[in-house]
Amino acid sequence: MLYPLFADLNDRHVLVVGGGDIAARKTTMLLKAGARVTVGAPMLVPELREWVRQGRIAYKAGTYQTDWLEGVWLVIAATRSRPLNARIAADGQARQRLVNVVDDPALSSFQVPALIDRSPLLVAISSGGAAPMLARRLRERIEGLLDPAFGSLVQLAQRYRARIRARYADLTARRRFYDWLHDGPVHAQLRADRPAHAEHQLMTALAEGAAPTTIGSVALVGAGPGDPGLLTLRALRALNEADVILHDALISEPILDLARRDAVRIAVGKRGGSTHTPQASIHALMLEHAQAGCRVVRLKGGDPFVFGRGGEELEFLREHGIAYEIVPGITAALACAAYSGVPLTHREHAQSVRLVTAHCQQSFNTLDWSELARERQTLAVYMGVGQLDELTRQFIAHGRAASTPFALIENGTLPQQRTLTGKLGELPTLATRHAIQAPALLILGEVAAQANVSHWFGELLGDPLLQPAFAPALADAA
Ligand code: SAH
Repeated sequence: MLYPLFADLNDRHVLVVGGGDIAARKTTMLLKAGARVTVGAPMLVPELREWVRQGRIAYKAGTYQTDWLEGVWLVIAATRSRPLNARIAADGQARQRLVNVVDDPALSSFQVPALIDRSPLLVAISSGGAAPMLARRLRERIEGLLDPAFGSLVQLAQRYRARIRARYADLTARRRFYDWLHDGPVHAQLRADRPAHAEHQLMTALAEGAAPTTIGSVALVGAGPGDPGLLTLRALRALNEADVILHDALISEPILDLARRDAVRIAVGKRGGSTHTPQASIHALMLEHAQAGCRVVRLKGGDPFVFGRGGEELEFLREHGIAYEIVPGITAALACAAYSGVPLTHREHAQSVRLVTAHCQQSFNTLDWSELARERQTLAVYMGVGQLDELTRQFIAHGRAASTPFALIENGTLPQQRTLTGKLGELPTLATRHAIQAPALLILGEVAAQANVSHWFGELLGDPLLQPAFAPALADAA
């Protein structure tokens, strides 16, 4: 096993042998750590040359000499020649210098870990040289979990450390205070990129002295359309930190599996016409858990602010003085378009996109049909599967051609995705024939025909001879 260590290289001499891009990258890290770097090589890449000119690093021109090792604490060998790297390693060994040979654990007496930098907080990962690539993959995952504000939080805690210690001499009280710092409004303000507010909160809490009680918060989080890969890093982080998750019934199991194991999960909302939690009880649940000091995630399909009643929930939280944040998600229109190969806009055929909902008679009466039936725009119709007859009738009655292409995407981005394509005039018949169910999204407009050629995910139920008007090359080939 390797012995892990974080070395204080501030003002200490370090030698980098090699003048290429890798040497430059290693030098950058060493300079960040405050080391006095000497680079030795016959030639330098422009970046290193510039640093020499600015006096930020020293330069030994020429081929490696054993006496370069005099007076240095660490050596990094980044030359392209293995025999030379081996010689540097052997020289270092004889002089008790720690030597890292880049990408060569067998020659190295220390290794540089993959790093997640939230300075002053550092997370270092090593596979002991066995599989640096895999360590790098793990690094990407942890990178996603650690919110970028973490570094600022640690910095703030560092600056106030003595004052916090003086205020809370008792260890238990101090631990509670740090919990509050992590879970409460200070961290939240930093995440919202308001460092001055964060510091103010911290100072107020210190002035008041009493251990602040943890105040809960609610994050309105967009879970995207179903594929867990379409969650944002921020959504993932919120799921990892949640105490309570109030999720729409439509949220897929693989997404919920990403949440903290011991988080309480409550399904709310409705699926199709089955059980249905009224909006008022969703509000009540958010309030109850937030007031109990929990971090609540209100997890909603797609984006919280697109046909998701996110606006009402936000208004409620504001009225009740509950701290909140809002994490956008990939809305069904964007996701279904991408996963069926339909560009929503096109230079000549669609200069605008409309997101429309059509789930009941009431919304039908308030829609401006002649606007919707206009050419050269793409419609993305949410919640429309139950109303395809009426939708089609209205579009055609208001002037949209019956030959307008459509793509109807059922269970978009999920393994069972189906994409039905055809012409507007035959939409209800085709949808019935293939028994298309909610959730499904209708894309109507010239661009929809593109699904016939660019479709790449799930099953295509369509007429492959129906070519997009704007792909003449493909039409000719067919
Ligand atoms: N806030 C959500 C929309 C909620 S309304 C968003 O931004 O996507 C619910 C409607 O969204 C469904 O009736 C359907 O039209 C659409 N929808 C949601 N997920 C979908 C999916 N995976 N595939 C197709 N349509 C979907």
